[in-house]
Amino acid sequence: MTKIHQTESGTDTGREFGDFVQSFQVDALGVRGRLVRLGDSVEEITGGGRYPKDVAELLAETMALGTALASGLKYDGVFTLQAQGNGPVKILLADLTSGGDIRGYAQFNADVLAETKDTGGGLVPRLLGGGHLAFTVDQGPETDRYQGITELTGATLADCAQTYFRDSEQLETAIVLTARRADDGAMRAAAFVVQKMPDAGPGGFDDPLEPWREAAVLTSTVTAKELLDADLVPADLLYQMFHERGVRVFESMPLRHACRCSEDRVATTLASFPRTEIEAMREDGVITVTCEFCGNDYVFDNDAVERLFA
Ligand SMILES: [Zn+2]
Repeated sequence: MTKIHQTESGTDTGREFGDFVQSFQVDALGVRGRLVRLGDSVEEITGGGRYPKDVAELLAETMALGTALASGLKYDGVFTLQAQGNGPVKILLADLTSGGDIRGYAQFNADVLAETKDTGGGLVPRLLGGGHLAFTVDQGPETDRYQGITELTGATLADCAQTYFRDSEQLETAIVLTARRADDGAMRAAAFVVQKMPDAGPGGFDDPLEPWREAAVLTSTVTAKELLDADLVPADLLYQMFHERGVRVFESMPLRHACRCSEDRVATTLASFPRTEIEAMREDGVITVTCEFCGNDYVFDNDAVERLFA
């Protein structure tokens, strides 16, 4: 019997891209980092024709960046990365629980976007314009919220985040971000983040800045193609980059797209507004609230509205 199954483009080699964070550490250079790959999760968030190509890619990058930054922190709760701009894209939001649930959305003006020309200055100035990037960690009502904020000064989200860490946290950070649709049309995103460890640097260098410089140069060699290549497993990629110095690769953490919205949560939010404002939202006798993250509709009829204010 002859097998005639063949693939033309070679994309059907079987390895799944996956959704995970892979942490690693290079002790000899005094750095640690994370490699994030988002496959199905980011396709669910950006797919379904909900966003134009550039907005989908920028949102996918936001998801990868948010995941990479969140996974570098010890927290028990929700990490939010939010970009606010005055361009065609008003909001990009990525929200991640410490358990590995991710969700996100973008708010944009399609008319303004259609009139925006690509002048080659990068997605951030073109789509977001001026504005800021904010990081928040919410660990519940009894705890302090950690917040960091930086102006959108770079051409890319990676530039903006690097500037934030260098200027506001005095933490040298190198970030590579990428997102694009694979041959099968599904969105894929990846982030590669390397940070100088805050303690004293490693020995064996005449210049104390040398190990960080070496780590940053090595990081700059990683390509979007490598980060998005499902067949190149993270451990192999990390070994390829850091084998001369030795790299410790930790257990990876799985991620998934999951929204936390529910009828109860929406009802609690609605009930916090004055009744007159809520009544003004009524259309055809019902109030419909759409979750910005997952697009789920919650419909409140007369009885449900009465219960809100009972
Ligand atoms: Zn939702």
